[in-house]
Amino acid sequence: MTVTVRFAPSPTGRIHIGNARTALFNWLFAQKHRGRFIQRFDDTDVVRSKQEFADAILYDLHWLGIFQDATEYQSKRFDRYDAAVERLKAAGVLYACYETPEELDLRRKVRRTRGLPPVYGREALALTPEQIAEYETDGRRPHWRFLLPNFTSDPLQPERTEIHWNDLVRGEETVDLASVSDPVLVREDGTYLYTLPSVVDDIDMGVTHVIRGDDHVTNTGVQIAIFHALGAQAPVFGHHNLLTTTSGEGLSKRSGALSIEGLREGGIEPMAVASLAVLIGTSENVEAVPTMAELAERFDPAATSKSAAKFDPDELLVLNRSLLHHMPFEQVRDRLAILGVSDSRAAPFWQAVRGNCDKLSDAALWWRIVKEGPLEQPEFSDEDREFLRQAFDLLPEEPWDATIWKDWTAAVKEATGRKGKSLFMPLRLALTGLSSGPELADLLPLLGREGTLARRP
Ligand code: GLU
Repeated sequence: MTVTVRFAPSPTGRIHIGNARTALFNWLFAQKHRGRFIQRFDDTDVVRSKQEFADAILYDLHWLGIFQDATEYQSKRFDRYDAAVERLKAAGVLYACYETPEELDLRRKVRRTRGLPPVYGREALALTPEQIAEYETDGRRPHWRFLLPNFTSDPLQPERTEIHWNDLVRGEETVDLASVSDPVLVREDGTYLYTLPSVVDDIDMGVTHVIRGDDHVTNTGVQIAIFHALGAQAPVFGHHNLLTTTSGEGLSKRSGALSIEGLREGGIEPMAVASLAVLIGTSENVEAVPTMAELAERFDPAATSKSAAKFDPDELLVLNRSLLHHMPFEQVRDRLAILGVSDSRAAPFWQAVRGNCDKLSDAALWWRIVKEGPLEQPEFSDEDREFLRQAFDLLPEEPWDATIWKDWTAAVKEATGRKGKSLFMPLRLALTGLSSGPELADLLPLLGREGTLARRP
């Protein structure tokens, strides 16, 4: 069977690095197994879900290097969920409940004071037809709960019923179905909660592996029971740990914290985001992995730790730098051209400056320095100015080759007696206006004789 995974966000905001972690776990798993990746939008909440968010999520995923084989919208599949509801009702495992939230709250409190677990006591199963008629006349509409298979013959006598699965990430997992309430699948107004549509989709779309955050572990017990009630085999599950901020708070889609869009606009490379999103909170070293194929090699869901992983945005900058320092020109050619770096010097220029770029946009600054000279004119002492004039007068004639810097500075050293920092620093300042930067041996050929002489103080 073809491995089939899905990434299933609700399109109610932009995705953040934590969502990207889920998407990437699925994508890399699919890559490793030559499987299919389905992009599913959980948009049953038609008020909060927006097409513009779905489009933006796709844009972010493509930017990261994740490409879906199919795109599905739950909002287009209500007939399938309605059919599943009919099937569950016919099987007697979906029952109408009329409690208000306040009534449920009160019942939970009563159960707690009696030392019982605060789960739903299935009181609705005991309603008489007269009581139901009365509720309906009062204008109450039912919500619908799935009857969990946690009893032998009397649902009012639930028994410990273990559901087991071998989690891709966490290993052997167990949920006791007597410890959870019968889940509400359909609300009073007829709208669906996430639980049932997700199972129906996973069945219809042939999903073989459900990889998602560990906030869904409890849902899994319930959902496995629904798979069985719908006559299907449950997929394999994997629950990865969640990312938190350095202070331990959860990331929220709505707050825009660490959104992929924000990181992109901040100049972070997609593979820096992907490397950190995948490797953090695992037993692997966090390092910049240059390609998705290499990241897929490194990816092992079972190496993921069970506790939450603290995510430090500063780490992204470190990875970004490291990626850029080794990035081949071919990979940045188009983006450099957009920054205006496009003449015949572009390739050697990139080679010269990439080690000095924290972000690709830093190359634009160096390009200005190469083309136009220092951004700010440096101040020199009379002594240094004298030295520099003498040095510039010794600049060899063209044609220049790769040894030009060595030849020139050897001549300057001999003529002036200066060496080390007192020789190189004034030259660096005169040529670039900055006290640190790319190797001057690499920059000088880019400036050319004319461009260099123009910087003579
Ligand atoms: N829409 C759900 C979420 O974003 C999907 C969970 C799942 O993958 O089953 O949490």
